[in-house]
Amino acid sequence: METLAHLGLIARYGADWFRSAGTAGQPGSALYTVHVPGREVRVVEAPFGIPLGRLLPLAALPADRCGLAETARVLRYLALQSAGQCGPCRNGLPRIAAAVRTLAEPGPQSTLRDDVARWSGLAEGRGTCHHPDGTARLVRGALTTFAAQLDAHAHGLCTATDATPVLPVPQDRS
Ligand code: SF4
Repeated sequence: METLAHLGLIARYGADWFRSAGTAGQPGSALYTVHVPGREVRVVEAPFGIPLGRLLPLAALPADRCGLAETARVLRYLALQSAGQCGPCRNGLPRIAAAVRTLAEPGPQSTLRDDVARWSGLAEGRGTCHHPDGTARLVRGALTTFAAQLDAHAHGLCTATDATPVLPVPQDRS
């Protein structure tokens, strides 16, 4: 629907108008889902390339929550959202989701951190669609962004003080 809406506006106002927003490599705008705990989920339209800092005040994960636990919840959802017809979805995503669930708990990690990074690389580019690719990018981002939390978890610690889930992942609503 987002694409169809863009096409209608491009037909009306022209390609140059569309390209006036966004970046050279990714012109136009996108819809971003932002969620502030305790408030309604909102969808906002913003140009591609918008500095994250301009969206973060609307969407940032509260400092008292665990980014790894939130990532694990999203990955579980993504692992369940395929027909399992391609190798990465049949084998890779469930394994990655389970491993990140383990990493989200404070305790020994063994080789799991490296394993998750390696499995994500193996899943990328091997599906019929890009579902595994997007999931792999999420995993890579989480391993980098939450590296300090991963270190803390490896030492049996967690910086989060509130375990209440934040992101509105559908499985939590069932
Ligand atoms: S890669 Fe795409 S088409 Fe293949 S099982 Fe996964 S979601 Fe389905």
